Amino acid sequence: MSRGFNFSAGPATLPTKVLERARDELLEYGAERASVMEISHRSKAFERIAAESEADLRALLAIPDDYAVLFLQGGATQQFALLPMNLAGAGDTADYVLTGLWGEKAAAEAKPHVGVNIAATAAASNYTGVPDPASWALTPGAAYLHLTPNETIQGVEMLDLPALPAGHAPIVADLSSTILSRPLDISRYGVIYAGAQKNIGPAGLVVMIIRRDLLERAGAPRAKILRYADHAANQSLFNTPPTFSWYLAGQVFKWVREQGGVEAMAAANARKASTLYAAIDGSGGFYTNPVEVGARSWMNVPFVLADAALDKAFLAESEAAGLLALKGHKSVGGMRASLYNAMPQAGVDALVAFMRDFQQRHG
Ligand code: PMP
Repeated sequence: MSRGFNFSAGPATLPTKVLERARDELLEYGAERASVMEISHRSKAFERIAAESEADLRALLAIPDDYAVLFLQGGATQQFALLPMNLAGAGDTADYVLTGLWGEKAAAEAKPHVGVNIAATAAASNYTGVPDPASWALTPGAAYLHLTPNETIQGVEMLDLPALPAGHAPIVADLSSTILSRPLDISRYGVIYAGAQKNIGPAGLVVMIIRRDLLERAGAPRAKILRYADHAANQSLFNTPPTFSWYLAGQVFKWVREQGGVEAMAAANARKASTLYAAIDGSGGFYTNPVEVGARSWMNVPFVLADAALDKAFLAESEAAGLLALKGHKSVGGMRASLYNAMPQAGVDALVAFMRDFQQRHG
């Protein structure tokens, strides 16, 4: 086997055990005498997959009964538009706090559908921190408050949800790149959404956790395919779902449970992140990460080399050493190491050893 350690931001590394299981079941799923990709989404076997995956996710995140769980298509980007279409009525305002590029995109896509108030933005600091919550200019009676608690590109994470004034609008959070990395208090959110291709499974799926009272807001679009309420009423089987991605997500949920759940993930993720940040900070400026220490992401760690002329050599040599996809996002440059749940400590240790060796040879 020549699988490398894959630091891609997404689609991202998956647990090897999950891939092996999918391989073993690829031609014949259970007693179906057909692949899971070849069976009806209305079959008993798929109904079981759907029910078990939802139950496992509910158990992992302690999702209360008054929240619906949806498995939909269209990625997180489609939700940028569907959220205001479903949650806001005519004349409504929604607040957006911007801590990076994904929040910017979410706000831009919302604009045709709701009055967008940028309640706070860290753009002036080049997205290297989270604006002080005391400075957030929240709109009284806003339809919702949108946050991107982990910005995948900038590597900025709100490690805890801030305390907000009583009676604040429901929080809508894009958790694409941090869901399942640590425990969450679901009851603090109105809507959580997450593209699957980081901590959940392969691309093609977006998981949503929606407080049920928000399913029937005044602004709901007329087309059923765009309405959360219709997807919830049909258990995400309103039309043909991405069955293979959903099946694989279910396998990932089982794997997370076997590892000890989100508490165990949090412990492992904290250790991985501190290993890498310590290596960056201890490099005497050879490598740097610009994010304020208290807002550094556990999942996505961007870093630059003091001498950008070495970037090409770093990328070529790291790839040759089996450390894959370390190129940073084009808007930030340099490198980015994504340390999702499926990245083992051994991968981070190998990366850090490579970084030290590279510095010794080129520093
Ligand atoms: N939000 C965040 C935080 C992301 O990281 C991404 C993808 N990297 C997206 C949204 C967009 O997801 P998709 O491509 O699935 O629409």
